[in-house]
Amino acid sequence: MKIEKNKSLKNNNTFGIDVSARKYVEIYDEDELKQLLSLSELKDEAKLVLGGGSNILFTHDYNGIVIKNSIPGIKIIFEDEKLCLVKAGAGVIWNDLVLFAVEKNLGGIENLISIPGTVGAAPVQNIGAYGEELQNTFHSLKGIYIETGKESVFEKEECKFGYRESIFKEELKEKFIITSVILELYKNSQPVFNYGTIKNELEKLPSVNYSIKDVSDIIAKIRNDKLPDPTAIGNAGSFFKNPEIDKDQFLELKKEHPEIPCFTSPHNKVKIPAGWLVEKCGWKGKRIKNVGVHEKQALVLVNYGYATGEDILSLAQEIKISVIKKFGIELTEEVNIY
Ligand code: FAD
Ligand code: NAP
Repeated sequence: MKIEKNKSLKNNNTFGIDVSARKYVEIYDEDELKQLLSLSELKDEAKLVLGGGSNILFTHDYNGIVIKNSIPGIKIIFEDEKLCLVKAGAGVIWNDLVLFAVEKNLGGIENLISIPGTVGAAPVQNIGAYGEELQNTFHSLKGIYIETGKESVFEKEECKFGYRESIFKEELKEKFIITSVILELYKNSQPVFNYGTIKNELEKLPSVNYSIKDVSDIIAKIRNDKLPDPTAIGNAGSFFKNPEIDKDQFLELKKEHPEIPCFTSPHNKVKIPAGWLVEKCGWKGKRIKNVGVHEKQALVLVNYGYATGEDILSLAQEIKISVIKKFGIELTEEVNIY
C-alpha cells in the first residue's frame, strides 16, 4: 500500500477540477483497507473515499487522505432457476457489471447502462435512470466503519433508499466505506421500457419481443447522443435533483405555466423535471467564461477548460436563484460538494 503526498485529483474527478489531496492511497482489498484504517498516523486525518469521481465537485484541495476504492471482482454466488445473486467489489466499474449481466441475459440493471462510476458508489445515491433504480435489484452490501474499522452488512431495508438518496449519503456520509455489493438479478425477466424515449426507439425494431440487450443498446445510444462525454467536457451528470413538490403547489404553478411537465411521486408528491425549470429560466446552452450549462441537457453543468470548483458552484447558485424567482422551487444539489 503506497500513500502518496500532494496528489493531483484532476484525473480523479469527471469535472476535471484541478485540486490535490494532501495524502492519497488506492486500496485493492478489504484487508488492505482495514490495515489502512488502523494506522495510528492516520487516526486524526480526514478521510474521503473516492470511486470514479463522477458525482463530486471539489471546491478546494482536500486536507486529508483520499482513499481510492479499487476493490475488484464480479462473481455469481448463488443461482437457481429464477435468479442469480451477483457479488461485485466496490471498485468494479459499474458499467462492467451491467455488461456482465446483459451478456448473461440477467435482467434488472440493463436500464442503468452507461452510468459512470463504481459499484461501491451506486448505493450511495441509489443510482437511477430510465424508470429503474438500484434498489429494485439490491440485495445487500458489506463495508467498514471508518472510525472503528468494524465490518458491517446492510440489508436493503437498512439502506434507507430514496430518490437519489440513501443512508450512505446522509447519516453515514464519510463514516462508512462500502467494499462489496450483492445484487439479485433475474433470469427470463421482462425489460422495463415504458419510459418515453426508450419505447419510441424500441418500436422501430422489427420484433416486439424486446430482449435485455435491445433495451440496454438503445439506452446506451440515447445517452451517448445526449450527454457530454466527461473525457471531452468536464461534468458530473445531473447537477440538481428533480424537485418533488406538494400537489397544491403544483396546481398553483400549473395555472401560471400550463405546459409544466410532471410525474407522479410517492407520498402524494409531484416530480418536476429540474432540467425543464432550468431551461425555462434561459440557462440551456449558456456559457460564462469556463463554465456553462450543456446545450442538450440543462441539468448538466460543464467545465469547458480551466474552471475551478468555485466557478461551477457560483453558476449553480445563480441557477438556483433564478429558479426560485420564477417558480418558487428550491433546487437541491445531487452532486456531492467538497
Ligand atoms: P464518486 O463520485 O467517486 O463518489 C460519490 C460519493 O459517493 C462521494 O460522496 C463518495 O465519498 C461516495 N463514495 C464513493 N464510493 C464509495 C464507497 N465505496 N463507499 C462509501 N461511499 C462511497 N447518476 C445516476 O444516478 N443516474 C444516471 O443516469 C447518471 N448519469 C450520469 C452521467 C454522467 C455523464 C455523469 C458524469 C454522471 C452521471 N451520474 C448518474 C452520476 C454518477 O455517475 C453516479 O452517482 C455514480 O454512482 C458515482 O459513482 P462514482 O464511483 O464516480 O462516485
Ligand atoms: P428525460 O428523458 O429528458 O426526462 C427528463 C426528466 O423527466 C427525467 O429527469 C426523469 O426523471 C423525468 N421522466 C421522464 N420520463 C419519465 C417517466 N416515464 N417516469 C418518470 N419520470 C420521467 O431525461 P434525461 O435527462 O434524458 O435522462 C434520462 C434518464 O437518465 C433519467 O432517468 C435521468 O435521471 C437519467 N440521467 C441521470 C443523470 C444523473 O447524473 N443523475 C444524468 C443523465 C441521465 P428521473 O430523473 O427521475 O428519471
